[in-house]
Formats: sequence, C-alpha cells, structure tokens
Amino acid sequence: TSIRQLQRSQTMPLDETTIRNLEIFETSTGQKQHTLFHVLNQCVTPMGARQLRQWLRYPLLDNGSLEARYDAIEEFQQLGRMRQGLREQLSHVQDLPRIAGRISLPVAGISDLLALRSSLEPLQLLPKLMGPLSTPLLVEVGASFDPLKDLLTLLEQRLLPEPSLKLAEGGYIADGVSQELDDLRLLTTDSKEFLNRMLQQERERSGIASLKLGFNKVFGYYLEVSNTHKNRVPSHYLRKQTLTNGERYITQELKEFEEKILSAEERSVELEQALFAELRQEVLQQLGRLQESARKLAILDVLSGWAELALAANYVRPCLLETEHSRKLRLQASRHPVIEQLDLGEPFIPNDIDLEEERRQVLLITGPNMAGKSTFMRQVALNVLMAQTGCFVAAASAEMTLVDLLFTSVVASDNLSQGQSTFMVEMNEAAAILNNASENSLIVLDEIGRGTSTYDGISIAWAISEYLHEHTARAKTLFATHYHELNEMSETFSRIKNFNVAVKELKNNVLFLRTLVRGGSQHSFGIHVAKMAGMPKTVLERSKKILK
Ligand code: ATP
Repeated sequence: TSIRQLQRSQTMPLDETTIRNLEIFETSTGQKQHTLFHVLNQCVTPMGARQLRQWLRYPLLDNGSLEARYDAIEEFQQLGRMRQGLREQLSHVQDLPRIAGRISLPVAGISDLLALRSSLEPLQLLPKLMGPLSTPLLVEVGASFDPLKDLLTLLEQRLLPEPSLKLAEGGYIADGVSQELDDLRLLTTDSKEFLNRMLQQERERSGIASLKLGFNKVFGYYLEVSNTHKNRVPSHYLRKQTLTNGERYITQELKEFEEKILSAEERSVELEQALFAELRQEVLQQLGRLQESARKLAILDVLSGWAELALAANYVRPCLLETEHSRKLRLQASRHPVIEQLDLGEPFIPNDIDLEEERRQVLLITGPNMAGKSTFMRQVALNVLMAQTGCFVAAASAEMTLVDLLFTSVVASDNLSQGQSTFMVEMNEAAAILNNASENSLIVLDEIGRGTSTYDGISIAWAISEYLHEHTARAKTLFATHYHELNEMSETFSRIKNFNVAVKELKNNVLFLRTLVRGGSQHSFGIHVAKMAGMPKTVLERSKKILK
C-alpha cells in the first residue's frame, strides 16, 4: 500500500546467529514448538501471529513505546470480562490482510467476499466492547476502531445469505440488486410452471395420458411417447429420437420456450458476473480502511493474548531504567519461558541475576556439565528480548536499562557449506561481538574457545574476557566456561565476578541444585555426566584414573 523507511536506530537488530541460538522461531532441530514464539503466541487471529513475529524480530529501543505496550497489557489484565469478550469476537475473524490481498487479484472469488463478510460481522461489537479502554495505546487502536459497518452492509445487501461459490454458474447475487436479474430469475422459476401447464395441455389434446416431458443436452426439451401410443402422436410433433420402447419429439412451441429460457439463464449468469466485478471494485475502494482495521486487530490480539499469558504463567511487568544511571540488568527469580513450560520431570528452579556496568559487568559462570549454565544464560537473554518486545517477563521482578544489541555465541556448529569449520564459526561470532558491542549491549558467551586445543582455547577465552572488561564500552556479559583457570581473573579485574551453578556432591552421585551462587567451581563432573549417558564402565574407570 505504501513505502515507509525503517529506522534502524529504533529497533534492536537481531542477527541470524542469535535468532537461531535463542531458538526464537525454531529449535535447533527445526521444530516450531518449544520456541519463544510458540510460548508468546496466544493470538487467536493469523494477523495477530504475524504481528507478533514482526515485533519479536524487531525489539524496541525506546522506553516510551515499551511502556505503552506494558500499560496496555496491564489494562487488559484488569478488564478481564472485556478482554474475554474481545478475544471471543476476534477468534471469528479470518485473515483479513490475506483476504484483502486476494480480493485485489483477478483470482478473487465469491468465497473471498464471503470470508470478508463473516469476518466483518464480529467486528461490529468491538467499538462498544472497547469503550472503557483508557491507556493511550489502546485508545489509539481501540477507540478509533473502524468496524467497517458500511462494507458489511454492502456485502449483506449484494450477496445471497448462502450463495453458490461458482462464479461461472451464478446464484450468488442477492435479489433486489438488479431489476433485470430479478426479471430473468422470475422467468426461470416460472418456467417450471409453464412446462407443467404445457404438458397437461398436450396430454389433453393428444389424449396420451402417459406423455412425458424431459430434457437432455443434445436436443433440449422433448416429449416422450411410448410405443403403445405411437399412432396417436399429433402431426405437428417432430420426431427426434427413437428408443426401444418409445419415441421422443419436439414441437415448435417447446423450441421457442427453450431458447427463451436458455438465453435468460445465460444472460443472468453474465449479469451476476458483472455485478460481482462491480462489487469487488467497491470493496477494493475500502481496502485502505480494511487494512488499517486489520492492523489494529492484530495489535489488540497480541496484547490481549499477552495479558492472558502473563496472568497464567506469572509474568511480571519490567521496570525500565534510564541509561543516565549505571546500566543494569536485574531479574529476580527469573525463569526460562520455554523450559519452564515443559514437563522434564523436575520443577524449574528460578534464578536471580544482577548485572551492573560499574560493579558486576562480566559474570564468569562455571559449574558441572548439565548443571544449567546454558539454560540460565539463555533465559536472561530471552527475558530481555521479551521485555523489549513489550511483553511481561518470566520473573518475580525485573529492572533493566534497555539493551541495544543482544549477542550470543553458543556451542558452535559447522557451517561447511559456507566453507567454515566449527572453530572458524565460533571465532567469527566472537569477532563480530567484540567489534560491535557497545556499552548498552548484552553479550552471552557459551564456552567460547572450546573448539581448539586446550591452551589456545584458554588463552583466547582469557583475552576475550579481559578485552570486554578493559574496553571503554562496558558491555554486560555472561560467560559460561569449563576453563576453571579463568576464575583467577576476578582477582585482577574488579568487574569480573565468579558464579557457579551449584551441585551437591553425594557419595557416588551429583545432585543438580540448579541455583546460581557466588564463587567459581573447581570441577566439571564430566565423568559423572558420561556415566549418566551410559558410557562403558571400563572407560569411566580409566578416565577417573587418568584424571587423578
Ligand atoms: P554443559 O556444560 O554440559 O553444556 P549446562 O550447564 O550448560 O551444561 P544446561 O544445558 O543449561 O546445562 O542444562 C541441562 C539441563 O538441565 C537442561 O536441559 C534443563 O532441562 C535442566 N535445567 C537447567 N536449568 C534448570 C533449572 N533452573 N531448573 C530446572 N531444570 C533446569
């Protein structure tokens, strides 16, 4: 409909790696379920889901727009009955932009106008329903909502309540739209009566009580006489076909009638097609209004859905801080929005995080394999993303300055088709992060430097952490690693803090506590995880010896 410049500075650019790493739209195995999109998608209309996709793809960078969305969610939470009523009506609305798109193409058919008509019906209740809305965003999309009543009336007047869907056959334009069409229709309905009358007359005139009337495509209407009465056939009957037990005839009168009927039918189909084209043009003139209403419905759908989600899943409204103060990210009892909804046999344990540019800029997270390091870091990134999309977050409380860039580098995979080895992919990602991060960025590094020899890896990991700490732009960083040597860094670099995901060592076992606690850990319990995975006993015993 129009071209508009996108302002890069207004949204957070999410790179493909981060979209993939955080499994926003798709899991690593290509599933749509168990993704952030899937959790946040409470939409009841296709345009709502598309709007959500768009919002998630372009998180916002200004407090004002985000607060407006939060306010709207809060209002929807408070107006429960209204929200339910609205969503009930929305659920009957089909994909309006798609319908609009089809109507503007030559393929448009009756079914498209019907879909439009049935989607406009539920919209009529919305203005009254949305009357009480008072937050600015909802006033903007709700109070000025155009239900397109005139368009609905037009479609109701022009199309039959249950029209035929076949454009080429007619039977869809309502009565009363065109006098000519009404007359032609009368002719065809009257024709049955006419034929009955004529048959009756012919029976009386010829004295053949069993005279029958039929129609076939080859020679139209005919009169059929059985062989018994063949001799009584009047002379003006013209024989057309001989059957085993009878003959078929036509008459002049029948022929004339037939022409009149057939041309009336043809004309009425033509007329209906022309009226349909006219109607389509009239609808097209309202396309702009239709798209605008659809845009508003999509926003209402996403926000009312988020209000329900926040209530059901216990999400909280984030508190956005201005950047003049020290840049912060503080989440209390935060959860991974996707994993907490899965039934993995253990309850999800919430965790706190408190990052602050001046004091706790880089968190170095150690802890055993399987402890929950990656999960924790991802949940922080996902909650930030949710907050900057305008959604409430999976935590007991959230306080943050906005993040301009969200970088993630997680355990690398090959990109052989692009000529890159595992380690090359890892280094590419790390280089992009170090070269682009600003003081407002959030960086998530999962086991950087793992894909090469131990000493090369440790050296790179150390140098990267040091660079992030020493750089003028103090990007907030979460760095999970199994290089316990890095724990030493906190002694030299004041804003690097050691944390670990706690476990409890039992006699022959390790209990995962899933809580993030201060301090570095010394062991990875890799052999224990190998045991859990079913590694042969001899290998396990031998590993223990070698380790010792
Ligand atoms: P590795 O070092 O081997 O990569 P990790 O420490 O990164 O391990 P994760 O992959 O984050 O471990 O977590 C392992 C599993 O533990 C997850 O699949 C998840 O099911 C479970 N888990 C993680 N965090 C929690 C939590 N807070 N509450 C409950 N379960 C959790």
